[in-house]
Amino acid sequence: MAHDYDSDNIFAKILRGEIPNDTVKETEHSLAFRDIQPQAPVHVLVIPKGAYVTFDHFAQEASDAEIVDYVRLVGDIARAEGLEEDGFRLISNAGKTGVQEVPHLHVHILAGRPLGRMLQKA
Ligand code: AMP
Repeated sequence: MAHDYDSDNIFAKILRGEIPNDTVKETEHSLAFRDIQPQAPVHVLVIPKGAYVTFDHFAQEASDAEIVDYVRLVGDIARAEGLEEDGFRLISNAGKTGVQEVPHLHVHILAGRPLGRMLQKA
């Protein structure tokens, strides 16, 4: 998968402060904010601050500090939103097959209602 980063993407604009976001938590290397079109009662997006397109791009090129910060923030948000008991789902869409709309790595944290089976038939 190509990793050319488009710095005009909407999450890059959020990180530069050019458009607002509903921040849940910010850390040194990562930002968690609420999805603008929530698909469940809890729908938080977690992004690294660095210019990474997909999970595999991040895994390949991010520093250990960025990766630790990011993974810990995902877990921290799940706990802070009170999701340990009933559970949650993580989704990270990548590229064409994953139907990724915004080309900056993000994990969706979804919860707050039964989410159904993982995939629907196309
Ligand atoms: P994906 O299809 O995985 O790339 O998901 C992109 C997600 O970004 C969608 O769930 C959108 O609702 C969400 N989104 C797009 N623009 C914004 C924004 N300005 N603030 C918060 N979430 C957004």
